[in-house]
Amino acid sequence: MPDSDPTAVIDEQHEHDLDLAEATDEVETFAAAEQNGGTATATQIDDEAYAAIAAAFAPPVEEPTGIGDLDAATLDALGAAPLPVIPLPLLKRKVYGRYRSTGTPFQVELRVDVDGPTPTMRVSADYYSIAGSTITYFGSMRVDAPAVSVSPAQIVITGLGRFTWAAGAPRIRITIPRVPILSPPAAATLLHLTLTNQPGATYVCRYVSPAFRTLLFEQDRQDTVPVMFGSYNTGSLPSGGPARTLSIVSAYAEAGVQMITTGATDVVPTGEAGANSAWSDAELHAAMVKHFSRWKDIPQWAVWLLHARLHDLGTGLLGIMFDQQGKQRQGAAVFYAGIGGATADKLRLQLYTCVHELGHCFNLLHSWQKSLAIPPQPNRPLSLSWMNYPWNYPGGGQAAFWSAFPFRFDAQELVHIRHGFLNDVIMGGNPFRVGSQLEDLASWSDPIEDRSGIQLDLEAPRSFGYGEPVTVGIRLTSSGPGGVQITRHLRPRNGQVQIAIAGPGGRVQLYEPLLHHCMSETRTFAAEDGQQTETETAFIHYGQDGFYFDQPGTYRLRARYTAPDGSTILSPVTTIRVRPPVTAEDEAVAELMFGDEQGTLMYLVGSDLEELSSGNDALARIWEEFPEHPLADVARIVQGTNAAREFKLVEADNTVRVRKPDTGTAAELIGAVLDVDGVRKAATAKKKADEIEKMDAAAAHLEAAVTPELPAAVAGYVNSRRREIGIEIASVDGG
Ligand SMILES: [Zn+2]
Repeated sequence: MPDSDPTAVIDEQHEHDLDLAEATDEVETFAAAEQNGGTATATQIDDEAYAAIAAAFAPPVEEPTGIGDLDAATLDALGAAPLPVIPLPLLKRKVYGRYRSTGTPFQVELRVDVDGPTPTMRVSADYYSIAGSTITYFGSMRVDAPAVSVSPAQIVITGLGRFTWAAGAPRIRITIPRVPILSPPAAATLLHLTLTNQPGATYVCRYVSPAFRTLLFEQDRQDTVPVMFGSYNTGSLPSGGPARTLSIVSAYAEAGVQMITTGATDVVPTGEAGANSAWSDAELHAAMVKHFSRWKDIPQWAVWLLHARLHDLGTGLLGIMFDQQGKQRQGAAVFYAGIGGATADKLRLQLYTCVHELGHCFNLLHSWQKSLAIPPQPNRPLSLSWMNYPWNYPGGGQAAFWSAFPFRFDAQELVHIRHGFLNDVIMGGNPFRVGSQLEDLASWSDPIEDRSGIQLDLEAPRSFGYGEPVTVGIRLTSSGPGGVQITRHLRPRNGQVQIAIAGPGGRVQLYEPLLHHCMSETRTFAAEDGQQTETETAFIHYGQDGFYFDQPGTYRLRARYTAPDGSTILSPVTTIRVRPPVTAEDEAVAELMFGDEQGTLMYLVGSDLEELSSGNDALARIWEEFPEHPLADVARIVQGTNAAREFKLVEADNTVRVRKPDTGTAAELIGAVLDVDGVRKAATAKKKADEIEKMDAAAAHLEAAVTPELPAAVAGYVNSRRREIGIEIASVDGG
């Protein structure tokens, strides 16, 4: 047991020598970076002295209300009043921040959060196991309700920890001497105790930083974004917090996160967004691999933000955390076609969008979707947080949100960022995941009273052939008198609609798209009584949990929509049947179709990525060997659309190979299924139109053109991906 439990007493009580030589590169990098980050130090000391002065007037730590109020507003108020002169040496240093032990076989990173500017009244730790010159993450611990006792000489924090493993000594006792404000910070001693109060392992942890987390932050900009967002004075427009100048880095500093800016700012050529000058998610990923100097497909405290101009989905997409495959949450992008400008409201939107997208990189979910987290939390649609949508704010819409928004994360989000178990927070740790843990459709019980004036409908063909992409139509109808605000974007990837799927075996899953998009407010509208939205076709065949319809049988589907006012509206249950394969050909095609790479290719509508090459081989075999099979048309659309794209591939030596659009192949493959010329003409007929208008025209034409003779499943797939397909077809040469 001792060797496998860092909380238990270790046989040979190694003294914790203060030798950092055994640290890995990663740890050394952070340590070095912190030493180099000297510019912040003077301000930090000022802040600390300031906080200490304020604390001298504050009630003792045992009174949580006193501490909870000790935020920037209190400090400002204190600053405005003349302060009595207090001899600084009498002030005691605060103990909040990050601590680290050394030695073998385990090391601990300890976070103490009981007396800082915005304390969450928690302590947490990550444990690492040390072998030779390697450090391996072992597990994490958090105490949610510690007892804090303060004497003139020391602070003692005790409580029962929640651990990621079955800890033998789960009670903790942290002792930190209180030292004068001008003395170096004291070390924290972490003692573990069994449930019967027998002592377990002890770690002496030296003070590292006032920040609970430190990460490397790299930003690049597209050549058509001349100026990246820098900072915004929150007093420029009405707001709910003290006026202050916030950058991305200082907004995260307020959350207790130190961002060390790293790497040169690359200017990313627009050409990397492909022939249409707009970014697909695959192109964003390729750009991250190429331009993010710290990128590795491993969990690490490092994140990349691209300041780009336009996403394939148009100007309504303000930003995206696009890295939602493999090791996730390492990159995000914001789009200046929607947020650009120099006016105060645009700068505010830029700050908000940058901090919001990076929040997703910390695995934070939208405020109104917290119930989709694992484990679930209550939704907080009224939260005045970076993670809410101002335009969806149920407390009075956008204007009300901004004038009350303090430019902060909410309290629960702070706990997550600072004290979440390592893999729940660190970039490249656990996947960005919501839901999929619903127990049954009954948990989506109908509201007792529904006065929302909105009806949600879910439509689907009654049956699908085995392996055919399952898509559903989603539509809202206003059933109340007078202008109900409803949303135009109704696909799961836009976040307003979730779809639960009860499979033939009774298992219930929530459809979880590979990618979430953060849409702007521009696509909500006031619907009159009886007015309907257009039916949005949603692809729910493949997502983060793989294939959702990989067993023949009957499936029950139900959709849930979160309205701008926070109302939750459920659709009636829709039943579909997935037919078993009938012929040997059906079976052979299904065998070629069911694979994660093929599913990802269907989701993305093709990709050149090396990791997906065997999926591409399988799709090609479908249309080569079974040209008449309905699924061959799906394979043709996927690969034809991708052939029409320009694609960048990053080689092993980090050089970039550009694969030019292969218009011949594209026209041949897509032309076998769709009227390529018609779509292209619709797009090019818009003389002098910009790329956005051309994309819109192509997508609209595609939607109108696909339905008549195509099999329903193929038509549904094309409709669900009409933007992605349309913009590529628009650039296919007549040939
Ligand atoms: Zn978002």
